[in-house]
Amino acid sequence: MDWLPIADIAGKVQNGELKAVELVRKSLAAIEENKNHDAIISTMEARALERAGQIDESPTGRLAGVPFITKDNFLTFGGKTTAASNILRPFEAPYQATAIERLEAEGAICVAKANLDAFAHGSSTENSDWFVTKHPADPSRVPGGSSGGSAAAVALRMAPFALGTDTGGSIRLPASFCGVVGYKPTYGLVSRSGVIAMASSTDVIGPLARSVDDAALVLDVMSGKDELDSTTIDRDEKPYSGAQEEIAGKKIGVIREYLAQGLQPGVEKIVRESIDKLKSAGATVEEVSLPSLPLALAVYYIVCPAEVSSNLSRYDGQRYGYSSPDAKDLDDSYELSRQQGFGAEAKRRIMIGTHVLSSGYYDAYYKKAQTVRTKIINEFEEAFAKYDFLVGPVAPMTAFKIGERSGDPLQMYLTDIMTVAANMSGNPAISVPAGEAEGLPVGFQIVGPLRGDRQLLGIARKFEAIRT
Ligand code: GLN
Repeated sequence: MDWLPIADIAGKVQNGELKAVELVRKSLAAIEENKNHDAIISTMEARALERAGQIDESPTGRLAGVPFITKDNFLTFGGKTTAASNILRPFEAPYQATAIERLEAEGAICVAKANLDAFAHGSSTENSDWFVTKHPADPSRVPGGSSGGSAAAVALRMAPFALGTDTGGSIRLPASFCGVVGYKPTYGLVSRSGVIAMASSTDVIGPLARSVDDAALVLDVMSGKDELDSTTIDRDEKPYSGAQEEIAGKKIGVIREYLAQGLQPGVEKIVRESIDKLKSAGATVEEVSLPSLPLALAVYYIVCPAEVSSNLSRYDGQRYGYSSPDAKDLDDSYELSRQQGFGAEAKRRIMIGTHVLSSGYYDAYYKKAQTVRTKIINEFEEAFAKYDFLVGPVAPMTAFKIGERSGDPLQMYLTDIMTVAANMSGNPAISVPAGEAEGLPVGFQIVGPLRGDRQLLGIARKFEAIRT
């Protein structure tokens, strides 16, 4: 069972060859069939079928009748929005995320909410307060995270595409682990309105799909300025889908610091082969050094918790979701609701974030981290003055075993070593499936210049065509 390319599905719904209601049923059946992978938190069957019925009566829109799944940190109608955290277990969204609204306006139908590490804090979905999502090819392994449910859902063909968020790698990492395309746009290209905030200065919304062009079409529909998010930027005038870039003649930099990180041998082999393919296709490829990149992880794990501690302060037991029934007064309610509602990782980040922002430590941690962040931004800018694209691995390893890293937060954080820099700088980056190591998928990362989304998708599409 597979899906046609997204544009073909929509075309066939528009001309009546396919029925949206049937497509939604097919998606729901695939979700049911693959239940044992725990990729999905909830389905919105009633609303999805109702919308499908309306679309069949008047089948218009670039995504007419195309079912999709979204990570459960996007506000949606038709069910609960939980961010996989106990503190939001009872929460129903009063409005929808702009990304969801835009997809729906073009006829797409949201059928289900995918599992994630609670509040998107993590790299494996093991931090979900619901359950651990199992890898699509090997249920003893993690699918990556934090958009692990979305990646597994696409790999298991539950829908033609899914949405994720990437604050430090959470689209690209699970895409690499599960063998699907994961796209992180330039910061601000997709509105964050209605998406539960993690670290607002690095949160980005993007698609997970089976092909680069499917991802590009979804981006076409979601992207662009939104008055509900003042950080949004204008989209390209030309469409992202169908974008073409010749590999021949391009200057491509291989990020030296990533190859020096001690990659799993199977991953290194695929990455080197991918680089060779770019060379054979006519690109000039050479190693480039961005000396501050090894610091990006340390910077991220200061900046991110600082913003997390601030963003999570709104969950106080009064305004959203869970309120402790044991509280005797208001102060008690704040304390108990947060104590009982947040999981260990959210608490860890609140404590680290509060510490690095405290007056005694601000200069030593937060301010220093922001200084190094600026260096990282400058190094990317200098590199893109010389190179069209930068490439490297997505992660040092393939999907690891459930439980292998969850006992040691530092080991878990190290998973993100090759993804966080592009979040610190805001550059667009993609993970494209490049091969397998010992039966597990390996993604190849391509990073583009700021606002170079169209070029990046164009080259990724060409790479997709020449990979094995
Ligand atoms: N794994 C990273 C973290 O735990 C990134 C998460 C994300 O991108 N949402 O913070």
